[in-house]
Amino acid sequence: MISGNLARDAADELVYQIQRDLQRVDAALERIDTGLYGYCVGCGEEIEMNQLRADPSTSFCLSCNSRVNRRASCK
Ligand SMILES: [Zn+2]
Repeated sequence: MISGNLARDAADELVYQIQRDLQRVDAALERIDTGLYGYCVGCGEEIEMNQLRADPSTSFCLSCNSRVNRRASCK
């Protein structure tokens, strides 16, 4: 039997992930509205079609994405 705390932690994590995904999708929809969808927020270059297929809500091209991830992991 999973303890109440553990279940609550798991639920909190799930809610957090869903909210984050929703924000990404919202931002993607906004970029579609403004005609900026498919362009990198970081450098303005077109995002690879393969990358958009893998993650339609992505807002960075591959090189900016790896830069952002590197910075995030260097905290
Ligand atoms: Zn970029």
